[in-house]
Amino acid sequence: MTRLLLIGPPGAGKGTQATILAETFGIPAISTGDIFRANVANQTELGLKVKAIMDAGEFVPDDLTNAIVADRLREADAAGGFLLDGYPRTLDQVNELDRVLAEDGTALDAVVQIVADTEEVVSRLLKRAREQGRTDDTEDVIRHRMHLYAEQTAPLIDVYQKRDLVLSVDGLGEVSVVTERIRESLASRGITA
Ligand code: AMP
Repeated sequence: MTRLLLIGPPGAGKGTQATILAETFGIPAISTGDIFRANVANQTELGLKVKAIMDAGEFVPDDLTNAIVADRLREADAAGGFLLDGYPRTLDQVNELDRVLAEDGTALDAVVQIVADTEEVVSRLLKRAREQGRTDDTEDVIRHRMHLYAEQTAPLIDVYQKRDLVLSVDGLGEVSVVTERIRESLASRGITA
């Protein structure tokens, strides 16, 4: 049973690492960004609500985001562990996640912080914009997402540091190299696949 969070600025490679790690550990990668994007693509009621918010690089309101994650964590495949990518992003979301886990009598095992330089991630995101055409990957929106990360999400690292859960990993380099760093730092805590 492994319960992990991946935290880091947009463009740090969280999604890529989340997919690889989830496979290695045999747990679902739960990405709120992916859930929202799928809803936008399918034009669901939720998708229609969040599209403009996402295109502007703003955060989807906490109550909506929290409800989606609480439901997702109650699905059968998450009972044996999970890897959350892109959630929590605010203090309110941390509190809600704490509440949901406490209700289940569980807790997080580790918070993996992927450290990446701002200019490096901005250029990565601009590259992704050219390759994938994500509508929230324009330079202005990217800068705004970086700003929101620094202002609202980075402080969560302190919260988890106080609980001695944070493993900081350098996000610069080849995907496989970064994966190996993450695996090693998890292993140093006795967290292995
Ligand atoms: P991501 O793929 O994680 O970069 O998320 C893409 C977009 O989805 C974000 O810019 C937000 O608009 C929205 N989003 C994803 N996760 C959250 C969250 N935990 N809280 C609020 N908004 C979110």
